[in-house]
Amino acid sequence: MVKRLFLALTPDTSTALAIEHWRKQNWPQLSRPTPTQNLHLTLCFLGDVTESQQRFVTAGMHDLSSEKITFNLNDVGYWPTQEILYLGTTEAAGACSNLARECASLAARAGIKVSQRTFVPHITLARRCVNPAGPLLEPDFRFTADGISLYSSILDKAGVRYVEQAWV
Ligand code: ATP
Ligand code: MG
Repeated sequence: MVKRLFLALTPDTSTALAIEHWRKQNWPQLSRPTPTQNLHLTLCFLGDVTESQQRFVTAGMHDLSSEKITFNLNDVGYWPTQEILYLGTTEAAGACSNLARECASLAARAGIKVSQRTFVPHITLARRCVNPAGPLLEPDFRFTADGISLYSSILDKAGVRYVEQAWV
């Protein structure tokens, strides 16, 4: 059975709730806000993965850099072609980019084709967003990730759910 998987960093609960509060204050009427429990920063999207590829990735996750990643989420961005509003950073976020590179390399060794797009660390705030206004309040969240999660993404009638498959 194949699963749709991705590797990601997740904000702690209080940061996720603070982001949610700030998002509501700034954009009370988003058409498709990311559910608060789904807020995450994707390191590497793996797509459809077989069970043996998943086992390879899970085993290899232990070799990923385990230093705590921390930086400020202090920037709002918008990708018009994808209609995505996101929370990003103006900081170099080098540790995050290095980790994303390690994740892409692990995926490649598992035989998974990954996107060659330049990595932009971000948390998607909303989809189907058309020309959003700039924020009334500039964001300033300290993002600290205690570990790296492998999630499966499941789409059903209730929407998208992420289920943690592994954590390091
Ligand atoms: P939906 O697609 O229904 O809006 P979603 O985007 O939250 O929901 P997925 O499409 O499964 O769920 O994506 C999981 C994560 O992987 C998200 O962070 C998404 O932005 C990212 N992602 C999905 N597809 C790609 C892709 N082709 N390239 C890079 N990242 C992707
Ligand atoms: Mg998607």
